[in-house]
Amino acid sequence: MLVHSKRLWLLASIFLFVGVFSSPTLNFQYHRYDDLSQYLHDVAAAYPNMTSLYSIGETLRRHKLWVLEMSTAPDSTLGIPSVKLIANIHGNEAAGREVLLHLIQFFVTNYSCSETVRWLLDNTRIHILPSLNPDGFEVSVEGKCEVGPGRENARLVDLNRSFPDYFQNNTKPRQYETQAIQDWLTNNTFVLSASLHGGALVANYPYENFMENTDMTQPYPPSVSPDDDVFRHLATVYASTHPTMHLGYPCNNMDREFQGGIINGAAWYPLIGGMQDYNYIFHGCVEITLEISCCKYPLARELPALWDENREALLKYIYQVHQGVRGVVRDNTTHQPIRTAGLKIEGRDSYFRTTSRGEFWRILLPGTYHLQVHAAGYEPQTIKFIVSPKKQKEHITTTWLDVNMPPVVRQATVVSDQVLLLTNLPEEAPMQHSTTTQKMANSARLNFMDISLLISGYITFSVVYLLSNGC
Ligand SMILES: [Zn+2]
Repeated sequence: MLVHSKRLWLLASIFLFVGVFSSPTLNFQYHRYDDLSQYLHDVAAAYPNMTSLYSIGETLRRHKLWVLEMSTAPDSTLGIPSVKLIANIHGNEAAGREVLLHLIQFFVTNYSCSETVRWLLDNTRIHILPSLNPDGFEVSVEGKCEVGPGRENARLVDLNRSFPDYFQNNTKPRQYETQAIQDWLTNNTFVLSASLHGGALVANYPYENFMENTDMTQPYPPSVSPDDDVFRHLATVYASTHPTMHLGYPCNNMDREFQGGIINGAAWYPLIGGMQDYNYIFHGCVEITLEISCCKYPLARELPALWDENREALLKYIYQVHQGVRGVVRDNTTHQPIRTAGLKIEGRDSYFRTTSRGEFWRILLPGTYHLQVHAAGYEPQTIKFIVSPKKQKEHITTTWLDVNMPPVVRQATVVSDQVLLLTNLPEEAPMQHSTTTQKMANSARLNFMDISLLISGYITFSVVYLLSNGC
C-alpha cells in the first residue's frame, strides 16, 4: 500500500514538473503572426485537457484565423454555454490582440489556484480569436494612435462594415474574414460575445444602425433593440469593472463623454455591416464592442497596464453568460432532443434556436418571463419562468427549463412539410425584431405570431379539407 502511494506521488510530481516546465511563457510585447501562431500551438500542446486549437478560415495572405477554445467541461454535458471573444478586426487596433493572449495565459496557468478560473472553465466554453485581421496587423505601426495603415484587410476593406445588414442592403463584397465568422456562427451556438477595439474607452452595444428612413439629424437617437436592458447591463458590467471606463472620460482625441462608459452604437455613429448587429440579429448571439485603449496601437510598454485594466472586466463579462435561462427541448414521447426549434421570450421580438442537442440559452435580467417554443411537427408551448435575483453563485442566476414538446395530432403530419418551410429559416435570414423604428421592415417578413397563425390556419384548412373528403 505504501509503495503504491509513493508511486502515485512520484507520478503526480512528474506531471506537475512537466506541466510547469512545459508551460509556454508570454511576454508583454506584440506578437506578429508567426509568434502568435506558435504561442497558441504551444498552449494547446501544453494543456490538452483544457484547450483545443482550431482555425475558422484563412485570409488573402494565407494567415489562419486561429481560435483557442478553453474549457474543462466534458463534451457530453448538456447546457454548457459558449462565449467568444474576438480582437483585432481592425488590424491597427492592436491592444485587444495582446490582452486576449494574456487572458489565455491567465486561464491556463490559474486553473488550480483560482476559484474563478476553475469555475468558469468547468462551466463555460470560451473561444478566443485574438486576431480577425492578421493581414492588417502585419502592416500596421506600433505607436500610431490615430488612423493608420492596417485598419482594413489586405483588400483594403473594413471588415466591420462588410457583414450582412438587417437595416440596409450592404453592397460591400463579402471578405474571407467575414465569411469565416458567418460560417463559425452558423456551425456553432454562441450565447455571448465581445469584440475588442481601440481608439476610445467605452462599451458600445446594439443596434449600430437605423432603418433607412430614420431622421438622421444629429445628435443621433439610440437605435433600441428588444434586449436593450440586457445589452445595457452587459456594457455596464464591463465599464464599471474597468478602473476608468465607467468614468466616461473622453480620450484626448474624443469630443464627447460617454455616460457611465457605455453608448448605444447608432447613437454614437451609425454604421452599415457591423459585426455586433450581425451576431445578434442573424444568430441570436449577444455581442458588444469594447473600445479598450485611447491609442489604437499603443506602445508595447503600455501592455502590462492595459492587461491589468481589462482582466477583471473580462472575467466578470464572461460570467454574465450564466445569468438568465437555459435548458433542453425534447419530444415528450421519445425524449429525443429537438434541433433548430424556434424560441422567443414573450414581449421580445428576437428569435433564437436550439442546438443539435436541443439546448438553448438566453441571457436575461432577474424577472418573470414566458418562453415560447415552436418546432416542426410539435404543438407550440409557452412556459412561464422566473429568473431569480437571488444569486446561486457569485454573479450567477441561471434558471433551467426542460421543455417537453407534444407531437401534433395525426392530421398535422400532412402539415409538417409546410411547417418545416416556415420554421427552418435560412441561416442568413434575420430573426424577427421590432422596435418603433422597425415596424415597417417587420411587416414585410414573417414573425413569430405570423408563423403561429399560419400554422393554425393550415391545420384548420387541413382538417376541413380532410373532413370534406371523408378521411
Ligand atoms: Zn475598431
